[in-house]
Amino acid sequence: MPAAPSLPRVGISSCLLGEPVRHDGGHRKQPTLLDEFSSQIEWVASCPEVELGLGVPRETIQIELQQGSLALMTHDSRRDITDSMRSWAQQRAAALAAMNISGYVFKARSPSCGVGSVAIVGGGHDGTGLFAAELIRQLPNLPVVEEDQLATHSARQAFLEQVRRYATSTG
Ligand code: SF4
Repeated sequence: MPAAPSLPRVGISSCLLGEPVRHDGGHRKQPTLLDEFSSQIEWVASCPEVELGLGVPRETIQIELQQGSLALMTHDSRRDITDSMRSWAQQRAAALAAMNISGYVFKARSPSCGVGSVAIVGGGHDGTGLFAAELIRQLPNLPVVEEDQLATHSARQAFLEQVRRYATSTG
């Protein structure tokens, strides 16, 4: 019997899969999205903050504009974790590229995972989380989306089509 064709791999923020990895031990599972995509793609989950070793529960973190540069800071203890997150993100993004992922669904507004929706303290505008920014830097044509943008069936199908096209063009 011929082997079943492999499904495109798509990265996802772990909390959107229902994993209890948020700072308060919660998750943001997306049942409709998961039901619709489960037979058509293979998920590859990452939680940057847990994989960096920040633990659950953990202090919240935020991106701040400091003297013209972005810094990732813990909220209360004021630890600067910019360099450690950037270093982890470089390695994780390279590993995901080597796995031939064909898309990524990011959690909106997260200072690690958000894409264009993240509050920049002192910046007066929204920006992109440090892990998402590094993945986009390494894979600039990768289809990426935040879960908020997949609220309708037509939006989900349009993203799936982008993923399939990317998988075909890179496979
Ligand atoms: S948004 Fe990203 S860093 Fe935050 S809990 Fe979800 S996967 Fe982890």
